[in-house]
Amino acid sequence: MTTTTERGAARWKPRAAARPQGLQSTPDRTRRVRRLPIGLATIAAAAALAAGCGGGDARRDTGPAPQRKVVVLGFDGVDPDFVEQWKDKLPNFSELMRTGTFRRLETTTPPSSCTAWSTFTTGMNPGGHGIFDFILRDPKTYLPDRTGAVSHKAEYRFGTLLKKPETFTTTMSGEAFWTTADRAGKRSVVLRVPCIYPLEKEQHGYAQGGLGLPDMRGTEGTFHFWSSELSPRDAANPELGGKVLSLASGDSVETIIEGPVNPLWKEGDPAERQRLSIPLKLSRAGKDALSIDVGGRKETVESGKWSDWFHLKFDVTSMSTIPGMARFRVLETEPHIKLYMSPINHDPEDPAIAVTEPESYSKELVRAVGDFKTVGWNHETWGLNEERIDDEAFMQDIWDTFRESEAITLHELETRTTDLFISVFVETDRTSHMMYRLLDPEHPRYDAALAAKFGDSIFKTYQRADEIIGKVRAKLSPNDVLFIVSDHGFHSWRRGFNVNTWLVQEGFMTLKGGAKSTTKKFLQDVDWSKTRAYALGVGSLYVNLKGREGKGIVKEGAEYDALLAELADKMTKVVDPETGKPAVNKVYAGRDIWKGPRLGDGQDMQIGMASGYRVSSATPLGGAPEGLFENNMKKWSGDHATTETALTEGILLSSAKIEDEHPAIGDLAPTILGLLGVPVPPSYDGHALKISAPAGK
Ligand SMILES: [Zn+2]
Repeated sequence: MTTTTERGAARWKPRAAARPQGLQSTPDRTRRVRRLPIGLATIAAAAALAAGCGGGDARRDTGPAPQRKVVVLGFDGVDPDFVEQWKDKLPNFSELMRTGTFRRLETTTPPSSCTAWSTFTTGMNPGGHGIFDFILRDPKTYLPDRTGAVSHKAEYRFGTLLKKPETFTTTMSGEAFWTTADRAGKRSVVLRVPCIYPLEKEQHGYAQGGLGLPDMRGTEGTFHFWSSELSPRDAANPELGGKVLSLASGDSVETIIEGPVNPLWKEGDPAERQRLSIPLKLSRAGKDALSIDVGGRKETVESGKWSDWFHLKFDVTSMSTIPGMARFRVLETEPHIKLYMSPINHDPEDPAIAVTEPESYSKELVRAVGDFKTVGWNHETWGLNEERIDDEAFMQDIWDTFRESEAITLHELETRTTDLFISVFVETDRTSHMMYRLLDPEHPRYDAALAAKFGDSIFKTYQRADEIIGKVRAKLSPNDVLFIVSDHGFHSWRRGFNVNTWLVQEGFMTLKGGAKSTTKKFLQDVDWSKTRAYALGVGSLYVNLKGREGKGIVKEGAEYDALLAELADKMTKVVDPETGKPAVNKVYAGRDIWKGPRLGDGQDMQIGMASGYRVSSATPLGGAPEGLFENNMKKWSGDHATTETALTEGILLSSAKIEDEHPAIGDLAPTILGLLGVPVPPSYDGHALKISAPAGK
């Protein structure tokens, strides 16, 4: 991750062209969101004006209110069974159920957030948008890469002057329905829709980035944890978790915050200069507090609560810095100093990468509501899962972030005139992932004492969702149409299934030396000359296909067909020896459930497990550890991504009367465009829902 902005009055701020650079899929099926040098941008803006489609200030968020506004509130991972169970204590949910429509919403296969929200966004199934899993594997090398946003390094002139800032493209194909509406002149606000980063340029739209927008280290959120109890040898650096650093002992200690990759670092330079860092001074301040001195600010932070945001600037050169922000939590002061720091967010006041569209929108939002998190994965799940912070710290952060997103939502709804308004909250999903263990007495990490305190955490996030629905409804006109959408449901994740170990046991995969398991990840010990199938990603199964895979052996046609049938047959007979129950309900063949130009990029098969099961944590990275099943001993205790699709529906709740009994998430895009009077693109798979009475609020 390499980002920069320049310091001082002469800061070079590239402006974007007036029209998107790649609404249509490019030949490699990635969208290119590229910032043009100033001269080109001016020419592009002038050309756009000449073409009569508006220039730099054409964005409209004022003027008369539309006759009917469409408002979508997304609550990630809200499960229909929980809504039914708790509806008496959720007044706004139950009123909409009574006066409007409540349906279970068919999700995508797999029922994971990026796949489902991409279908919501583009109106296409994964075969159209290409987001099948959070991993995209290279069939030639069998190595995984992430799907979604892909970073392109910043470039410097003469090693000092920023020539081109960091940019992003995405592996997602297709166009967001609000971009289609934008072209038809519709005004929109789109807040934190997951997995749509980088944000498209809009003429009449405002957007805030959500899931997929990286932290300053270029990850989904890397925390820092310092402890004087650790020796330097203990310090670890798992990039999907945290940076763990040992501290010297004493009342005052100095350490560093390790920030973004140094964009000027080259192969052969000293390794310690690979990342930019800034000094951090800590000293004991009484029994339960630390004085934290960083970035020109010194503040005493008490234990047991989150600090305010500290603004941190990482110098690339004497003329160029990368502005970020983070907050601290003092965990212990005696006998050891233990300190936790949140992932470093790009500073919304002065972000080095685009965190909103237009870029200046993030400054406006800061002025309206104060600092807000910009990293897309905006909760402390990794800190809790690695047990560096406790449940209290995690939940306090959930409530803080809920408030922040609520404030932006209500402010924007109140002050901007729009035809379409979308705001997605993910706290319902994150809390369900981390706190399911305290709701499920059969979970291996159930703890009665903790459950007494935090067992209602998931319910409380539903209550907060309900409050937000109430506040939003109060701001709507009777003609407006409100949709409440969740992308998938939830299950307890009690047991993990080692898919590759099973493939070895059943003879579909062979490990080097005939081993039955391995401690290595990334399929490193696989003997490809004797392997017919492999698992990588969350529930994805691939055939080692001749001509497609680097060392493929299975022939296309009859051999491939027979293998898929054999895999599905054998895997759906897998029984967990500890519970005596079947673990796998369905194995879906990609060609049977998806269609479209990206079909070939997807997995050959997707596993749909029984409730309570997920693929083990070693499986997504191509591990094959000992044993077929394992107890899930992590606090990440709820999941949804590999369960049977039909068991993992989301919800659709609406102020409108909807006639369809079985709506699907892909039906939202055509339905909303229909309500806005915008023609539906032919690429859509879903159909517009039949609305008999749109009015209501
Ligand atoms: Zn989730």
